[in-house]
Amino acid sequence: MSPAGRRTRLALAGAVVLALAPKAPAADRTVLAIGAHAGDAEITTGAILARHKRLGDRVVLLHLTLGEGGNPRLSPAVYGEQKKREALAAAQALGAEALFGPWRDGELRDTEEAARFVADVIRQVKPTHVVTHWRASLHPDHEAAYRIVNSAVLLASLEGFVSAHPRHRGLRGVYYADNWEDAEGFAPYLYVDVSEDLAAWKAAVSCYEFIRGGISTFPYLEYYEALARVRGALAGKRFAVALEVDPFAKKRVLDALP
Ligand SMILES: [Zn+2]
Repeated sequence: MSPAGRRTRLALAGAVVLALAPKAPAADRTVLAIGAHAGDAEITTGAILARHKRLGDRVVLLHLTLGEGGNPRLSPAVYGEQKKREALAAAQALGAEALFGPWRDGELRDTEEAARFVADVIRQVKPTHVVTHWRASLHPDHEAAYRIVNSAVLLASLEGFVSAHPRHRGLRGVYYADNWEDAEGFAPYLYVDVSEDLAAWKAAVSCYEFIRGGISTFPYLEYYEALARVRGALAGKRFAVALEVDPFAKKRVLDALP
């Protein structure tokens, strides 16, 4: 099939391949990636974050919990300290800022307090783009993160919500990460070309012991590298990372057919 034919087929399938315009002014975007556990955001969308950093944008990570409960050989307190060091090292490798929520692994709940906390982070960081967990997940913390973030996005924009910072209305979109634990109903929608950013992604996520291997039996690095190749193949790129959006965000209004 010709490249034009392939584009048509992809468009018909509802997929959008984003060639992130390098001509967009530097620092035009601030990407805030919010994960339930330290490591979630970097392993799924770290390559996109690395790409945006390379384009001159600001990148911020918010880890709602450290994900400190997952090590069978270490207490949560000891592993939590390790996860925090690893999260800071991964952020530094990505050129990102790292923020941390106050919650414990496994105890993240969709509460007003959590939504207020995240809303104030959004007001402080002023993101143009938020990336977080898809709505359905094997992990209750991930589902809670989805709901907290969506409540927070609304709160952050409301004049009537009083917090330490003024309201933020510059958010252009909320995007959902392609996470093996959050697969139910997830359909890749946006494909971001990360062909030149995979090495930076791998270096950053390798700051985490659980991603290097030895703690979990899940082959994180192999899975997400292979997934980026699969998404890339479907997008006509070497490597790509896919994102989902809410159904209402798929509505396009045009003057004529594209
Ligand atoms: Zn997680």
